[in-house]
Amino acid sequence: MTKNEDALKKIIAHAKEYGFVFQSSEIYDGLSAVYDYGPFGVELKNNIADNWWKSMVQHHENIVGLDSSIFMHPTIWKASGHVDAFNDPMLDNKDSKKRYRADMLVEEHMAKIEDKIDKEVKKAAKRFGESFNRDLFIETNPRVAEYRNNIEEIKKRLYTSMDEEDMEGIKKLIEDLEIVCPVSGSRNWTDVRQFNLMFATQIGSLSEGANTIYLRPETAQGIFVNYLNVQKSARMKIPFGIAQIGKAFRNEIVARQFVFRMREFEQMEMQYFVKPGTEMEWYNFWKEARMKWHISLGLPENKFRFHDHIKLAHYANAATDIEFDFPIGFKELEGIHSRTDFDLGAHQKFSGKKIQYFDPELNESYVPYVVETSIGLDRTFFAVFSNAYTEEKLPDGSERVVLHIKPALAPVKAAVLPLTAKDGLPEKAREIMDKLKFEYRCYYEEKDSIGRRYRRQDAIGTPYCITVDHQTLEDNTVTIRERDSMKQDRVEIEQLQGIIQLKLKS
Ligand code: ATP
Repeated sequence: MTKNEDALKKIIAHAKEYGFVFQSSEIYDGLSAVYDYGPFGVELKNNIADNWWKSMVQHHENIVGLDSSIFMHPTIWKASGHVDAFNDPMLDNKDSKKRYRADMLVEEHMAKIEDKIDKEVKKAAKRFGESFNRDLFIETNPRVAEYRNNIEEIKKRLYTSMDEEDMEGIKKLIEDLEIVCPVSGSRNWTDVRQFNLMFATQIGSLSEGANTIYLRPETAQGIFVNYLNVQKSARMKIPFGIAQIGKAFRNEIVARQFVFRMREFEQMEMQYFVKPGTEMEWYNFWKEARMKWHISLGLPENKFRFHDHIKLAHYANAATDIEFDFPIGFKELEGIHSRTDFDLGAHQKFSGKKIQYFDPELNESYVPYVVETSIGLDRTFFAVFSNAYTEEKLPDGSERVVLHIKPALAPVKAAVLPLTAKDGLPEKAREIMDKLKFEYRCYYEEKDSIGRRYRRQDAIGTPYCITVDHQTLEDNTVTIRERDSMKQDRVEIEQLQGIIQLKLKS
């Protein structure tokens, strides 16, 4: 098992044991790539969603919210291009019977070559010491040059085949690169086929002549088709945004990366409507603003990078991914796309309704351009959770697992713990609990030794444990233990709210 696989396994096990994420339908042996959030998982997920909503809707006077339906008129998905083009190329390995996304197999192959480049660079850095010039080395080293050419060649072949929907070309590429199935190790592949990712279902009873509709594969279209309603009812002036959090559904082919790639997941999207010609300005604005938001969740800057798209979707004139260093490597967490007037234009055409903005300053009407920020709530949960997970060796030789989650996002803000379950301590602890629980999500527990209770709170990332002991009954003071430093202070009960409040702002 690689180091990363091992790290991922530990995180999945922790998520289950401590009530963050469960496999869906587990007692029926599970449903692949579908997950349920447990008691602490749902708190963390809601806190992240709440933070995103505030940063978008509350902090921007010109962004408003929307909650559109999952079911929509089927023509919407025709207009958006999803019926015809929301496909992934897939193939099966005949020996392992495992299904893969063909483009991903090729991309993983390229990532392995990138790793070889990294190794060369590290080796050279060691050899040259202080005088090492990374950029110069990459430019001039013949072996690195060969690897880079190799990658460029592969990219060209992959993207051309994808653009031309040339499934045979992709199969040939996989054969030429001698890519093997990671499970069976064989090259016994089926042909590559296009696979539409939308889930279809029927609306209306069959006797009435039911219609096929789709579970939405993205929340964005609900925003586009409500553009006129929102702009008129909330009297919005361009530039303005519409934000939405909601479920999306994709019949993903590759489904073994925990909550990173699910078949039912949640998106947080914001579509920003701008004057044509100003879209690059806003694209750059949102690139920067979104990166700042990620850092504000307490995630380290060096775990992020932009991946600007060279190959653009047919509707976009600029696109980038914000990638995060997950336990499965650097992968997309959020997409920022300049989508031109593609979506509103298409809905105008398919619906026959005029979808325009009358610009009072220019005294003319136009179809606005759109810059969108589209982030997966589950992937953000995964980023926060995996980054927080830490195994620590303590000075006394013992070990603990602690989630260093930013306090404002922590599922539980304070645990109230009577030292023993007698002598009036539980009653006193309950009094404190009753005071705090209307302000914050708190947790009361009296079972087991205090040390074990601290460990359990560390494992779910609770910033403060408040312990009620015999002295509390005499002088109304408690000990408050801080999660990260494990420092304990004696404070008056009256001070508790102020201390917790301060921590939540940090
Ligand atoms: P990928 O390339 O990883 O399949 P995508 O480019 O198809 O992602 P978008 O269509 O841009 O993703 O969706 C926007 C965001 O929604 C992504 O950045 C991601 O965070 C989230 N997302 C997309 N698909 C899934 C999924 N199957 N499970 C969880 N989150 C997802």
